[in-house]
Amino acid sequence: MDDQKEDPPVLEVVQEFKSFAEFEEALQRYQKHNYCLFLRRRSNLCKDNSELKYTNARYECKHFGSKRDNPNLTGERPMQKSYKIGCKAFLYLSLKPKLQRLVVDRFQPEHNHPCSKVTYEGYPEVRRMSRDTIKSVQEFTKLKAKPILIKPLVKAREGDKIILSRDISNVRTKQIRDERQGRSEEEMLLAALN
Ligand SMILES: [Zn+2]
Repeated sequence: MDDQKEDPPVLEVVQEFKSFAEFEEALQRYQKHNYCLFLRRRSNLCKDNSELKYTNARYECKHFGSKRDNPNLTGERPMQKSYKIGCKAFLYLSLKPKLQRLVVDRFQPEHNHPCSKVTYEGYPEVRRMSRDTIKSVQEFTKLKAKPILIKPLVKAREGDKIILSRDISNVRTKQIRDERQGRSEEEMLLAALN
């Protein structure tokens, strides 16, 4: 059993999955082991089987694509630092209707950049805090604790994950927005007066 655990996780062409959840788990393990991050860029939902979820899905390395890409199309804010450095690593998953399985159709696992623990753990997608931690940040926010005081507590909960003060501020900002339920300041004022 222990030996099996130490085997590097496999992700390769013709590999089959009984469900999308099973694929996601394999991808997660592969990414954690190889310090790389693939993001789902294009996909088509499978209408008749929610377990398989997609008829096809294309994953690209976070560094896929050139810097010149139109920011309006990638959804990135113009001032945001671009991760795109022309990496060509991608994976294409597709549903084989006869098998009722998801299959890795194409996989290009080579990156044009180093994949290190430091860069991997710095990706915002990897930094994302667990639901429980987010909850406790919200509790402390209600008590009006400053992010600088919350940070060590988050660190203790999330182990060796990189947590930036910005991540904590983002949780707080979202909480305030949720509490206002999308109402404008004017609407909030009117509600308070009534
Ligand atoms: Zn890459």
